[in-house]
Amino acid sequence: MKRSRKVHVKSFGCQMNVYDSHRMADTLVPAGFSETANAEDADLVILNTCHIREKSVEKIYSEIGRVREMKEAAARDGRYMLIAVAGCVAQAEGKEIVRRAGAVDLVVGSQNYHRLPEMIARAQNGEKVIDTEFPVEDKFDVLAAPARETIAKRGISAFVTVQEGCDKFCTFCVVPYTRGSEVSRPVEKIVSEVERLVEAGVREVTLIGQNVNAYHGLDRDGTPSSLGRLLRRLNTVQGLYRLRYTTSHPRDMNDDLIAAHAELPALMPFVHLPVQSGSDRILAAMNRKHTREDYLRVIARLRARRTDLAFSSDFIVGFPGEAENDFRETLALVDDVGFASAFSFMYSPRPGTPAAEMADQVPQDEKSERLQRLQAAITRHQRSFNAGFAGKTLDVLLEKPGRLPGQLVGRSPYLQAVQIMAPAHLIGSVQRVTITEIGSNSLFGMLADATRTPVLNMAGA
Ligand code: SF4
Repeated sequence: MKRSRKVHVKSFGCQMNVYDSHRMADTLVPAGFSETANAEDADLVILNTCHIREKSVEKIYSEIGRVREMKEAAARDGRYMLIAVAGCVAQAEGKEIVRRAGAVDLVVGSQNYHRLPEMIARAQNGEKVIDTEFPVEDKFDVLAAPARETIAKRGISAFVTVQEGCDKFCTFCVVPYTRGSEVSRPVEKIVSEVERLVEAGVREVTLIGQNVNAYHGLDRDGTPSSLGRLLRRLNTVQGLYRLRYTTSHPRDMNDDLIAAHAELPALMPFVHLPVQSGSDRILAAMNRKHTREDYLRVIARLRARRTDLAFSSDFIVGFPGEAENDFRETLALVDDVGFASAFSFMYSPRPGTPAAEMADQVPQDEKSERLQRLQAAITRHQRSFNAGFAGKTLDVLLEKPGRLPGQLVGRSPYLQAVQIMAPAHLIGSVQRVTITEIGSNSLFGMLADATRTPVLNMAGA
């Protein structure tokens, strides 16, 4: 009988990494591994890394240092712990990781997770294994599906990767280099994954991809499907209440996808649409391939089809060459759109990207001062968006118990956390909730109709 071994996967960065971490753990189940939340107990620790944030590579090396100490402690107990580095830093650094950190046993690029069982077997024989090739086989065909109990444990909201890689080559971004060019999964494989998730109790699915609305996976008839067509298909999955997708590029927001927002009951009225800057000069330097006007036109087209749509976005402040006037255009764009929320970051150079080589880098103190002003503007709009719900009734998908006894936490269509007092059997259902109080991080409310039946199927009706 195979000895039961434990794997601990630590995820850094985006939702795609969280999804990949789950799939890595699932793929190791047939090899005798079960997941543990405690790295010290693990026979295998996988660091699933992200290359997007500032100093991400250095952070990973210091994380490896921490795991190395655990590995040494395990060795003193007569146990051999393997350390694997996966994700975008693994893809970018390759064998440099093993050269700098001898405690690492294997380095696996983001397209090669299905090869993990075989790589682990080689590492156990003392080999340093590095696999960062872009393979010809499709990792999604080979990666194991999660067991029903595993899906149930992960909650009622799930991510499903439908697309990977990017062909846009924004000058600040490493994704086209670390994840390669755009690849889309076929429609049927996505549909059957979603059906399996729903059958195990999932009620909300977020389709993810680095450039998700460039999705062009093949449909049953062999023709490429758009994201809009894929969403229409998923809208008919019985028991799936909510659909979302992220992250989109303004140029790929086509008529079909915009129309889907007006037509599909399950598609939530909340769109994450990164703009990065409000200045055409900076957008051109970023190679974003859209102007400020293009972006505003997309927002207007979406709003024309569905008036209750709200938006979130990503911003970079202090991109090389950004002057005060450029930055003011970004602030003005925030006011023009009135985002419900947004992520904002100071520009930091990524080695190997064109922007890292650009002259006129903006001094750190200016970047930091602009970031504060931008975040103040975003917070102002977010507060006013949230305040608009006082006394209103909205659909809330109840996800899990809250911190207080008898309390449940759910999400509004706009991803706001909503806390209500309600019985636990309502978890997994969509309820009408009247908002009674607006907090800084969540909304508080009460069931609008306590006699209402627990489960409302909003999809495919
Ligand atoms: S579209 Fe997004 S993922 Fe692609 S290069 Fe630009 S920022 Fe990176």
